[in-house]
Amino acid sequence: MKNRGRLIVISGPSGAGKSTVVFKAIEGRTDVCFSTSVTTRKPREGEVDGREYFFVDLERFQEMVDHDELLEHAEYVANSYGTPRAYVEQQLNAGLNVLLDIEVQGARQIHEKMPEAIMVFIIPPSLDELKRRLEGRGTDTARAIEARLIRARQEYQEASFYNYLIVNDDADHAAKELDAIITAEDCRFSNRKTWLELP
Ligand code: ADP
Ligand code: 5GP
Repeated sequence: MKNRGRLIVISGPSGAGKSTVVFKAIEGRTDVCFSTSVTTRKPREGEVDGREYFFVDLERFQEMVDHDELLEHAEYVANSYGTPRAYVEQQLNAGLNVLLDIEVQGARQIHEKMPEAIMVFIIPPSLDELKRRLEGRGTDTARAIEARLIRARQEYQEASFYNYLIVNDDADHAAKELDAIITAEDCRFSNRKTWLELP
């Protein structure tokens, strides 16, 4: 029988390069899928509904919270974000590893509800480099960037419950590290001990 999949939680300051690293790491892996979140944030230029996020209004978001449709949810820099529960459950039951890109408050909710989840924190090599990346991405106003930098400092102080830390200096190297973490977790004795059952 196929084992249930694992939940892999990725967090780190906005602009650290999470999306970049995650998509490089899971490209070509058939055992990992990505959970698309819902958000009340307005789409950035180039973002597509159902791809980066499901974009919803506050009323629909609240309805999802009230109907317990979200596995976790949190507010981040004046917008709400949440993980749709049904997709995650479905994929885990099908034996796939599910990757969540979520901020620290939501990650803590997952860590408390599902202590077996693998928690990975991704940071840039410095806060100056974070600012440069946020500015270089060109998707946020100066005010939004300032708010994200303040939030980054708070997240660093709250991150002690993560299992792994990746410093995203070179994106290819960081992706290799994430790939290695997923593979190592799959190789855990407890995950593979059915192979030792004798006929
Ligand atoms: P996040 O998902 O954490 O908000 P992104 O993946 O959108 O971050 O990356 C933020 C910006 O930094 C993007 O413009 C991206 O191309 C760039 N970036 C990501 N990783 C690196 C890296 N290792 N070196 C330089 N720039 C990077
Ligand atoms: P952004 O607006 O830059 O796309 O995302 C802002 C922050 O929200 C990032 O730290 C991202 O990881 C986080 N985020 C995205 N989706 C979710 C989610 O479903 N739940 C929580 N708690 N945070 C999320």
